Amino acid sequence: MPIRNEYKFFEAVEKSFDKATPFTHWDPGILEQIKQCNAVYRMFFPVKIGDKIEVIKAYRVQHSHHKTPCKGGIRFALTVNLDEVMALAALMTYKCAIVNVPFGGAKGGIAIDPKKYSAYDLEKITRRYTSELIKKNFIGPGTDVPAPDYGTGEREMAWILDTYLSMRPGEIDALGCVTGKPVTQGGVRGRKEATGLGVYYGIREVCNIPDVMKRLGLAMGVEGKTVVVQGLGNVGFHAAKFFREGGAKVIGLAEFEGAITNPAGLNEEEVFQHRKNTGSILNFPGATNITRSVDALELECDILIPAALENVINGKNAPRVKARIIGEAANGPLTPEADEVFIKKGVLVVPDMYLNAGGVTVSYFEWLKNLSHVRYGRMEKRFTENLNTHILGQLEELTGKNVKTKEREFIMHGPEEADLVYSGLEETMITATHEIMACWKSNPTIPDMRTAAYVVAINKVGTSYAELGIFP
Ligand code: GLU
Repeated sequence: MPIRNEYKFFEAVEKSFDKATPFTHWDPGILEQIKQCNAVYRMFFPVKIGDKIEVIKAYRVQHSHHKTPCKGGIRFALTVNLDEVMALAALMTYKCAIVNVPFGGAKGGIAIDPKKYSAYDLEKITRRYTSELIKKNFIGPGTDVPAPDYGTGEREMAWILDTYLSMRPGEIDALGCVTGKPVTQGGVRGRKEATGLGVYYGIREVCNIPDVMKRLGLAMGVEGKTVVVQGLGNVGFHAAKFFREGGAKVIGLAEFEGAITNPAGLNEEEVFQHRKNTGSILNFPGATNITRSVDALELECDILIPAALENVINGKNAPRVKARIIGEAANGPLTPEADEVFIKKGVLVVPDMYLNAGGVTVSYFEWLKNLSHVRYGRMEKRFTENLNTHILGQLEELTGKNVKTKEREFIMHGPEEADLVYSGLEETMITATHEIMACWKSNPTIPDMRTAAYVVAINKVGTSYAELGIFP
Protein backbone atom coordinates (compact mmCIF):
# COMPACT_ATOMS: atom_id res chain seq x y z
CA MET A 1 0.00 0.00 0.00
CA PRO A 2 1.48 3.41 -0.86
CA ILE A 3 2.70 5.19 2.28
CA ARG A 4 0.69 8.36 1.56
CA ASN A 5 -2.61 6.55 1.88
CA GLU A 6 -1.56 5.38 5.32
CA TYR A 7 -1.35 8.91 6.74
CA LYS A 8 -4.99 9.74 7.27
CA PHE A 9 -5.95 9.57 10.94
CA PHE A 10 -2.72 11.25 12.02
CA GLU A 11 -3.41 13.98 9.47
CA ALA A 12 -6.86 14.46 11.00
CA VAL A 13 -5.26 14.91 14.44
CA GLU A 14 -2.78 17.37 12.93
CA LYS A 15 -5.66 19.26 11.32
CA SER A 16 -7.43 19.62 14.66
CA PHE A 17 -4.13 20.71 16.22
CA ASP A 18 -3.57 23.34 13.52
CA LYS A 19 -7.08 24.65 14.02
CA ALA A 20 -6.20 25.35 17.66
CA THR A 21 -2.73 26.92 17.31
CA PRO A 22 -3.94 30.42 16.27
CA PHE A 23 -5.54 30.62 19.72
CA THR A 24 -2.19 29.99 21.45
CA HIS A 25 0.98 32.10 21.66
CA TRP A 26 3.74 29.54 21.26
CA ASP A 27 6.85 29.78 19.16
CA PRO A 28 6.28 27.82 15.90
CA GLY A 29 9.24 25.59 16.85
CA ILE A 30 7.56 24.55 20.08
CA LEU A 31 4.31 23.86 18.23
CA GLU A 32 6.16 21.72 15.69
CA GLN A 33 7.89 19.78 18.48
CA ILE A 34 4.57 19.16 20.25
CA LYS A 35 2.99 17.89 17.04
CA GLN A 36 5.62 15.32 16.00
CA CYS A 37 5.83 11.72 17.17
CA ASN A 38 9.14 11.60 19.06
CA ALA A 39 9.90 7.91 18.63
CA VAL A 40 8.38 5.33 16.30
CA TYR A 41 9.19 1.65 16.67
CA ARG A 42 7.90 -0.70 14.00
CA MET A 43 8.80 -4.32 14.45
CA PHE A 44 8.38 -7.71 12.80
CA PHE A 45 8.84 -10.88 14.79
CA PRO A 46 8.25 -14.56 14.10
CA VAL A 47 5.84 -16.66 16.16
CA LYS A 48 5.18 -20.36 15.65
CA ILE A 49 1.43 -20.88 15.19
CA GLY A 50 0.61 -24.57 14.84
CA ASP A 51 3.28 -25.90 12.52
CA LYS A 52 3.73 -22.61 10.63
CA ILE A 53 5.90 -19.60 11.36
CA GLU A 54 3.93 -16.37 11.20
CA VAL A 55 5.62 -13.01 10.89
CA ILE A 56 3.78 -10.54 13.10
CA LYS A 57 3.80 -6.81 12.42
CA ALA A 58 3.60 -4.54 15.46
CA TYR A 59 4.24 -0.99 16.64
CA ARG A 60 4.93 1.21 19.62
CA VAL A 61 4.89 4.96 19.14
CA GLN A 62 5.95 7.47 21.78
CA HIS A 63 4.47 10.76 20.75
CA SER A 64 5.84 13.00 23.47
CA HIS A 65 8.56 12.94 26.11
CA HIS A 66 7.68 16.28 27.68
CA LYS A 67 6.76 14.15 30.68
CA THR A 68 7.81 10.57 31.37
CA PRO A 69 6.85 7.80 31.44
CA CYS A 70 4.93 7.70 28.20
CA LYS A 71 1.50 6.13 28.46
CA GLY A 72 -1.05 4.54 26.19
CA GLY A 73 -2.84 1.34 25.33
CA ILE A 74 -2.01 -1.56 23.05
CA ARG A 75 -4.47 -2.46 20.33
CA PHE A 76 -4.91 -5.87 18.70
CA ALA A 77 -6.71 -5.53 15.36
CA LEU A 78 -6.10 -6.36 11.73
CA THR A 79 -6.61 -2.71 10.86
CA VAL A 80 -3.68 -1.56 13.04
CA ASN A 81 -1.21 0.49 10.98
CA LEU A 82 1.47 3.08 11.59
CA ASP A 83 -0.81 6.04 10.87
CA GLU A 84 -3.40 4.86 13.36
CA VAL A 85 -0.88 4.18 16.12
CA MET A 86 0.75 7.59 15.57
CA ALA A 87 -2.60 9.36 15.72
CA LEU A 88 -3.67 7.51 18.84
CA ALA A 89 -0.30 8.20 20.50
CA ALA A 90 -0.71 11.92 19.78
CA LEU A 91 -4.23 11.89 21.22
CA MET A 92 -2.80 10.32 24.38
CA THR A 93 -0.43 13.28 24.88
CA TYR A 94 -3.29 15.77 24.64
CA LYS A 95 -5.58 13.57 26.71
CA CYS A 96 -3.10 13.27 29.57
CA ALA A 97 -2.44 17.02 29.52
CA ILE A 98 -6.15 17.85 29.67
CA VAL A 99 -6.82 15.70 32.72
CA ASN A 100 -3.53 16.65 34.42
CA VAL A 101 -2.06 13.16 34.27
CA PRO A 102 1.75 13.59 34.19
CA PHE A 103 2.58 11.35 31.23
CA GLY A 104 3.64 11.77 27.62
CA GLY A 105 1.44 10.07 25.04
CA ALA A 106 2.16 6.67 23.48
CA LYS A 107 0.31 3.85 21.75
CA GLY A 108 1.02 0.34 20.61
CA GLY A 109 -0.58 -2.08 18.26
CA ILE A 110 -0.27 -5.56 16.82
CA ALA A 111 -1.76 -6.12 13.38
CA ILE A 112 -3.65 -9.35 14.07
CA ASP A 113 -7.26 -10.39 14.35
CA PRO A 114 -7.28 -11.69 17.95
CA LYS A 115 -10.44 -13.74 17.28
CA LYS A 116 -8.47 -15.93 14.89
CA TYR A 117 -5.99 -17.13 17.52
CA SER A 118 -6.26 -19.44 20.52
CA ALA A 119 -5.50 -18.02 23.98
CA TYR A 120 -2.24 -20.01 23.87
CA ASP A 121 -1.12 -18.35 20.62
CA LEU A 122 -2.22 -14.90 21.77
CA GLU A 123 -0.12 -15.36 24.88
CA LYS A 124 2.92 -16.25 22.75
CA ILE A 125 2.40 -13.18 20.54
CA THR A 126 1.89 -10.86 23.54
CA ARG A 127 4.94 -12.17 25.36
CA ARG A 128 7.13 -11.89 22.27
CA TYR A 129 5.90 -8.34 21.65
CA THR A 130 6.75 -7.46 25.26
CA SER A 131 10.27 -8.81 24.96
CA GLU A 132 10.74 -6.76 21.78
CA LEU A 133 9.69 -3.69 23.76
CA ILE A 134 12.05 -4.57 26.61
CA LYS A 135 14.99 -5.02 24.21
CA LYS A 136 14.57 -1.48 22.89
CA ASN A 137 13.72 0.06 26.28
CA PHE A 138 10.18 0.83 25.10
CA ILE A 139 8.54 -0.42 28.30
CA GLY A 140 9.16 0.19 31.99
CA PRO A 141 7.58 2.00 34.95
CA GLY A 142 9.71 5.08 34.27
CA THR A 143 9.88 4.97 30.47
CA ASP A 144 6.71 3.73 28.82
CA VAL A 145 3.67 2.11 30.42
CA PRO A 146 1.17 0.26 28.16
CA ALA A 147 -2.47 -0.45 28.99
CA PRO A 148 -5.49 -2.12 27.37
CA ASP A 149 -7.07 -0.76 24.23
CA TYR A 150 -9.31 -2.17 21.49
CA GLY A 151 -8.91 -5.97 21.41
CA THR A 152 -6.92 -6.28 24.64
CA GLY A 153 -7.80 -6.45 28.33
CA GLU A 154 -6.68 -7.58 31.77
CA ARG A 155 -5.48 -10.96 30.51
CA GLU A 156 -3.00 -9.47 28.03
CA MET A 157 -1.77 -6.97 30.64
CA ALA A 158 -1.06 -9.85 33.04
CA TRP A 159 1.04 -11.58 30.34
CA ILE A 160 2.94 -8.34 29.70
CA LEU A 161 3.65 -7.93 33.40
CA ASP A 162 4.78 -11.52 33.81
CA THR A 163 7.15 -11.27 30.84
CA TYR A 164 8.57 -8.02 32.18
CA LEU A 165 9.01 -9.46 35.69
CA SER A 166 10.83 -12.49 34.38
CA MET A 167 13.28 -10.33 32.42
CA ARG A 168 13.76 -7.70 35.11
CA PRO A 169 13.96 -9.72 38.32
CA GLY A 170 14.25 -7.68 41.51
CA GLU A 171 13.15 -4.38 39.92
CA ILE A 172 11.27 -2.94 42.86
CA ASP A 173 8.72 -0.90 40.86
CA ALA A 174 8.26 -3.46 38.08
CA LEU A 175 4.50 -3.73 38.73
CA GLY A 176 4.18 -0.20 37.33
CA CYS A 177 5.39 -1.31 33.87
CA VAL A 178 1.80 -1.80 32.64
CA THR A 179 -1.70 -0.80 33.83
CA GLY A 180 -5.14 -2.30 33.42
CA LYS A 181 -3.92 -5.46 35.16
CA PRO A 182 -6.19 -7.81 37.07
CA VAL A 183 -6.57 -6.68 40.70
CA THR A 184 -4.77 -9.82 41.85
CA GLN A 185 -1.75 -8.82 39.74
CA GLY A 186 -1.38 -5.26 41.00
CA GLY A 187 -4.38 -3.75 39.21
CA VAL A 188 -6.62 -1.16 40.83
CA ARG A 189 -10.32 -1.53 41.57
CA GLY A 190 -12.39 0.58 39.19
CA ARG A 191 -9.99 0.47 36.20
CA LYS A 192 -12.19 -1.76 34.07
CA GLU A 193 -15.21 0.55 34.12
CA ALA A 194 -13.11 3.74 34.26
CA THR A 195 -13.43 4.90 30.66
CA GLY A 196 -17.21 4.38 30.55
CA LEU A 197 -17.61 6.02 33.95
CA GLY A 198 -15.46 8.96 32.85
CA VAL A 199 -17.66 9.38 29.77
CA TYR A 200 -20.70 9.53 32.03
CA TYR A 201 -19.12 12.00 34.49
CA GLY A 202 -17.99 14.21 31.60
CA ILE A 203 -21.36 14.35 29.85
CA ARG A 204 -23.19 14.77 33.16
CA GLU A 205 -21.00 17.79 33.96
CA VAL A 206 -21.63 19.32 30.54
CA CYS A 207 -25.37 18.79 31.05
CA ASN A 208 -25.11 20.67 34.34
CA ILE A 209 -23.85 23.89 32.71
CA PRO A 210 -26.87 26.20 32.27
CA ASP A 211 -25.70 28.30 29.28
CA VAL A 212 -24.56 25.21 27.35
CA MET A 213 -27.91 23.49 27.84
CA LYS A 214 -29.75 26.67 26.95
CA ARG A 215 -27.78 26.98 23.72
CA LEU A 216 -28.62 23.39 22.82
CA GLY A 217 -32.30 23.82 23.72
CA LEU A 218 -32.10 20.99 26.26
CA ALA A 219 -33.24 20.70 29.87
CA MET A 220 -30.58 20.63 32.59
CA GLY A 221 -29.09 17.35 33.81
CA VAL A 222 -28.64 13.86 32.44
CA GLU A 223 -31.84 12.53 33.93
CA GLY A 224 -34.54 11.79 31.36
CA LYS A 225 -32.25 12.34 28.37
CA THR A 226 -32.33 9.80 25.54
CA VAL A 227 -29.03 8.13 24.71
CA VAL A 228 -27.78 5.96 21.83
CA VAL A 229 -24.56 3.99 22.33
CA GLN A 230 -22.60 2.54 19.40
CA GLY A 231 -20.39 -0.36 20.53
CA LEU A 232 -21.05 -2.70 23.41
CA GLY A 233 -17.40 -3.36 24.26
CA ASN A 234 -15.92 -2.43 27.61
CA VAL A 235 -16.29 1.34 27.09
CA GLY A 236 -19.76 1.35 25.49
CA PHE A 237 -21.16 -1.20 27.91
CA HIS A 238 -20.09 0.75 30.99
CA ALA A 239 -21.09 4.10 29.51
CA ALA A 240 -24.59 2.69 28.86
CA LYS A 241 -24.71 1.26 32.39
CA PHE A 242 -23.79 4.54 34.09
CA PHE A 243 -26.18 6.59 31.91
CA ARG A 244 -29.03 4.21 32.78
CA GLU A 245 -28.15 4.28 36.48
CA GLY A 246 -27.94 8.09 36.30
CA GLY A 247 -31.56 8.26 35.10
CA ALA A 248 -31.05 8.60 31.33
CA LYS A 249 -32.86 6.36 28.88
CA VAL A 250 -30.64 4.26 26.61
CA ILE A 251 -32.95 3.92 23.61
CA GLY A 252 -30.47 2.46 21.11
CA LEU A 253 -27.51 0.08 21.15
CA ALA A 254 -25.40 -0.86 18.12
CA GLU A 255 -22.86 -3.57 17.36
CA PHE A 256 -21.17 -4.92 14.17
CA GLU A 257 -24.09 -7.14 13.18
CA GLY A 258 -26.80 -4.50 13.57
CA ALA A 259 -28.54 -2.35 16.13
CA ILE A 260 -31.66 -2.34 18.27
CA THR A 261 -33.91 0.41 19.54
CA ASN A 262 -36.59 0.69 22.16
CA PRO A 263 -38.04 4.08 23.15
CA ALA A 264 -38.87 2.65 26.59
CA GLY A 265 -35.16 2.09 27.26
CA LEU A 266 -32.76 -0.85 27.07
CA ASN A 267 -30.86 -2.59 29.83
CA GLU A 268 -27.26 -3.06 28.65
CA GLU A 269 -26.67 -6.11 30.86
CA GLU A 270 -29.72 -7.95 29.46
CA VAL A 271 -28.71 -7.01 25.90
CA PHE A 272 -25.16 -8.19 26.58
CA GLN A 273 -26.43 -11.56 27.85
CA HIS A 274 -28.79 -11.87 24.86
CA ARG A 275 -25.88 -11.28 22.49
CA LYS A 276 -23.74 -13.81 24.33
CA ASN A 277 -26.48 -16.43 24.14
CA THR A 278 -27.66 -15.85 20.57
CA GLY A 279 -24.49 -14.49 18.96
CA SER A 280 -26.25 -11.30 17.87
CA ILE A 281 -27.62 -8.08 19.32
CA LEU A 282 -30.63 -8.41 16.98
CA ASN A 283 -34.03 -9.84 17.99
CA PHE A 284 -33.79 -8.59 21.57
CA PRO A 285 -37.24 -8.99 23.19
CA GLY A 286 -39.30 -5.78 23.00
CA ALA A 287 -36.81 -3.95 20.76
CA THR A 288 -36.94 -3.09 17.04
CA ASN A 289 -34.11 -4.32 14.81
CA ILE A 290 -32.00 -1.94 12.74
CA THR A 291 -30.24 -4.08 10.16
CA ARG A 292 -27.47 -1.66 9.22
CA SER A 293 -25.47 -0.87 12.33
CA VAL A 294 -24.47 2.62 11.06
CA ASP A 295 -28.12 3.66 10.86
CA ALA A 296 -28.25 3.68 14.67
CA LEU A 297 -26.04 6.78 14.57
CA GLU A 298 -28.94 8.61 12.93
CA LEU A 299 -31.57 7.75 15.53
CA GLU A 300 -33.52 10.60 17.14
CA CYS A 301 -31.90 11.15 20.58
CA ASP A 302 -30.38 13.79 22.89
CA ILE A 303 -26.98 12.17 23.35
CA LEU A 304 -25.08 9.98 20.88
CA ILE A 305 -22.11 7.99 22.21
CA PRO A 306 -19.89 6.47 19.51
CA ALA A 307 -17.85 3.97 21.56
CA ALA A 308 -16.29 1.75 18.90
CA LEU A 309 -13.70 2.73 16.31
CA GLU A 310 -12.50 5.84 14.47
CA ASN A 311 -14.06 7.64 11.49
CA VAL A 312 -17.62 6.33 11.92
CA ILE A 313 -19.18 9.78 11.54
CA ASN A 314 -17.94 11.67 8.49
CA GLY A 315 -18.97 14.44 6.13
CA LYS A 316 -21.52 12.10 4.51
CA ASN A 317 -23.59 10.86 7.43
CA ALA A 318 -23.04 13.80 9.81
CA PRO A 319 -25.86 15.90 8.24
CA ARG A 320 -28.29 13.06 9.08
CA VAL A 321 -27.25 12.73 12.74
CA LYS A 322 -30.06 14.05 14.95
CA ALA A 323 -28.43 14.05 18.41
CA ARG A 324 -27.83 17.41 20.14
CA ILE A 325 -24.76 16.17 22.03
CA ILE A 326 -22.16 13.75 20.66
CA GLY A 327 -19.87 12.25 23.28
CA GLU A 328 -16.76 10.73 21.73
CA ALA A 329 -16.17 7.66 23.89
CA ALA A 330 -14.03 6.08 21.15
CA ASN A 331 -10.83 7.65 19.86
CA GLY A 332 -11.39 9.66 16.69
CA PRO A 333 -14.96 8.58 15.80
CA LEU A 334 -15.60 11.90 13.97
CA THR A 335 -13.65 13.14 10.96
CA PRO A 336 -12.72 16.85 10.68
CA GLU A 337 -15.45 17.13 7.98
CA ALA A 338 -18.04 15.87 10.48
CA ASP A 339 -16.82 18.47 12.97
CA GLU A 340 -17.54 21.25 10.46
CA VAL A 341 -21.07 19.94 9.91
CA PHE A 342 -21.79 19.90 13.64
CA ILE A 343 -20.38 23.40 14.18
CA LYS A 344 -22.87 24.64 11.55
CA LYS A 345 -25.71 22.63 13.04
CA GLY A 346 -24.97 23.89 16.56
CA VAL A 347 -24.48 20.34 17.86
CA LEU A 348 -22.11 20.01 20.82
CA VAL A 349 -19.29 17.54 20.17
CA VAL A 350 -17.61 16.54 23.42
CA PRO A 351 -14.14 15.48 22.23
CA ASP A 352 -12.45 12.10 22.74
CA MET A 353 -9.19 13.42 24.16
CA TYR A 354 -11.11 14.75 27.11
CA LEU A 355 -14.18 12.54 27.33
CA ASN A 356 -12.51 9.13 27.21
CA ALA A 357 -9.64 10.13 29.49
CA GLY A 358 -11.16 8.18 32.40
CA GLY A 359 -9.18 5.10 31.39
CA VAL A 360 -5.79 6.75 31.52
CA THR A 361 -6.74 8.69 34.65
CA VAL A 362 -7.41 5.49 36.56
CA SER A 363 -4.32 3.94 34.95
CA TYR A 364 -2.44 6.80 36.60
CA PHE A 365 -4.00 5.84 39.95
CA GLU A 366 -2.98 2.23 39.33
CA TRP A 367 0.59 3.25 38.52
CA LEU A 368 0.76 5.35 41.70
CA LYS A 369 -0.55 2.37 43.68
CA ASN A 370 2.17 0.18 42.15
CA LEU A 371 4.90 2.68 43.00
CA SER A 372 3.64 3.12 46.55
CA HIS A 373 3.19 -0.63 47.07
CA VAL A 374 0.02 -0.15 49.09
CA ARG A 375 -3.68 -0.49 48.33
CA TYR A 376 -5.71 2.74 48.37
CA GLY A 377 -7.63 3.11 51.62
CA ARG A 378 -5.52 0.64 53.56
CA MET A 379 -3.99 3.26 55.84
CA GLU A 380 -6.98 5.50 56.43
CA LYS A 381 -10.13 3.36 56.21
CA ARG A 382 -10.30 2.22 59.84
CA PHE A 383 -9.04 5.56 61.16
CA THR A 384 -11.77 7.43 59.25
CA GLU A 385 -14.43 5.02 60.46
CA ASN A 386 -13.36 5.40 64.09
CA LEU A 387 -13.21 9.16 63.79
CA ASN A 388 -16.65 9.38 62.12
CA THR A 389 -18.18 7.08 64.74
CA HIS A 390 -16.80 9.34 67.43
CA ILE A 391 -18.07 12.55 65.81
CA LEU A 392 -21.50 11.04 65.24
CA GLY A 393 -21.68 9.76 68.84
CA GLN A 394 -20.82 13.21 70.15
CA LEU A 395 -23.42 14.90 67.92
CA GLU A 396 -26.13 12.44 69.00
CA GLU A 397 -25.24 12.93 72.63
CA LEU A 398 -25.29 16.74 72.33
CA THR A 399 -28.53 16.93 70.33
CA GLY A 400 -30.30 13.98 71.94
CA LYS A 401 -31.32 12.80 68.47
CA ASN A 402 -30.36 9.67 66.55
CA VAL A 403 -29.29 9.51 62.90
CA LYS A 404 -31.18 6.96 60.71
CA THR A 405 -29.42 3.61 60.07
CA LYS A 406 -28.81 4.20 56.36
CA GLU A 407 -27.38 7.67 57.00
CA ARG A 408 -25.28 6.32 59.85
CA GLU A 409 -23.72 3.71 57.56
CA PHE A 410 -22.97 6.34 54.93
CA ILE A 411 -21.38 8.80 57.36
CA MET A 412 -19.31 6.24 59.20
CA HIS A 413 -18.04 4.39 56.14
CA GLY A 414 -14.26 4.69 55.68
CA PRO A 415 -13.04 4.82 52.07
CA GLU A 416 -12.36 1.60 50.17
CA GLU A 417 -10.08 1.56 47.12
CA ALA A 418 -13.01 1.76 44.65
CA ASP A 419 -14.53 4.77 46.52
CA LEU A 420 -11.27 6.69 46.23
CA VAL A 421 -10.75 5.76 42.59
CA TYR A 422 -14.30 6.80 41.66
CA SER A 423 -14.05 10.10 43.50
CA GLY A 424 -10.59 10.80 42.06
CA LEU A 425 -12.00 10.19 38.59
CA GLU A 426 -15.10 12.31 39.22
CA GLU A 427 -12.96 15.21 40.43
CA THR A 428 -10.64 14.86 37.42
CA MET A 429 -13.47 14.91 34.88
CA ILE A 430 -15.27 17.83 36.53
CA THR A 431 -12.10 19.94 36.74
CA ALA A 432 -11.19 19.17 33.12
CA THR A 433 -14.69 20.10 31.90
CA HIS A 434 -14.49 23.48 33.54
CA GLU A 435 -10.94 24.16 32.33
CA ILE A 436 -12.00 23.52 28.72
CA MET A 437 -15.25 25.48 29.04
CA ALA A 438 -13.43 28.42 30.68
CA CYS A 439 -10.94 28.45 27.78
CA TRP A 440 -13.80 28.41 25.25
CA LYS A 441 -15.67 31.15 27.08
CA SER A 442 -12.58 33.35 27.33
CA ASN A 443 -12.31 33.27 23.54
CA PRO A 444 -15.70 32.95 21.83
CA THR A 445 -14.06 32.82 18.39
CA ILE A 446 -12.87 29.28 19.22
CA PRO A 447 -15.26 27.31 17.00
CA ASP A 448 -15.89 24.18 19.06
CA MET A 449 -15.13 22.27 22.26
CA ARG A 450 -12.51 20.11 20.51
CA THR A 451 -10.50 23.19 19.56
CA ALA A 452 -10.84 24.55 23.10
CA ALA A 453 -9.59 21.20 24.45
CA TYR A 454 -6.61 21.33 22.07
CA VAL A 455 -5.81 24.89 23.19
CA VAL A 456 -5.80 23.74 26.84
CA ALA A 457 -3.61 20.73 25.97
CA ILE A 458 -1.17 22.67 23.78
CA ASN A 459 -0.74 25.30 26.47
CA LYS A 460 0.09 22.68 29.09
CA VAL A 461 2.51 20.70 26.91
CA GLY A 462 4.03 23.97 25.61
CA THR A 463 4.62 25.18 29.17
CA SER A 464 6.34 21.90 29.98
CA TYR A 465 8.66 22.15 26.99
CA ALA A 466 9.39 25.79 27.66
CA GLU A 467 10.11 25.14 31.33
CA LEU A 468 12.31 22.16 30.49
CA GLY A 469 14.50 24.78 28.88
CA ILE A 470 14.83 22.90 25.60
CA PHE A 471 14.18 26.10 23.68
CA PRO A 472 16.44 29.01 24.63
N1 GLU B 1 -6.28 2.78 25.79
C1 GLU B 1 -6.85 3.74 26.67
C2 GLU B 1 -6.92 5.09 25.99
O1 GLU B 1 -6.91 5.19 24.80
C3 GLU B 1 -6.16 3.77 28.02
C4 GLU B 1 -4.72 4.15 28.02
C5 GLU B 1 -4.04 3.99 29.37
O2 GLU B 1 -4.69 3.68 30.35
O3 GLU B 1 -2.82 4.20 29.39
O4 GLU B 1 -7.07 6.10 26.62
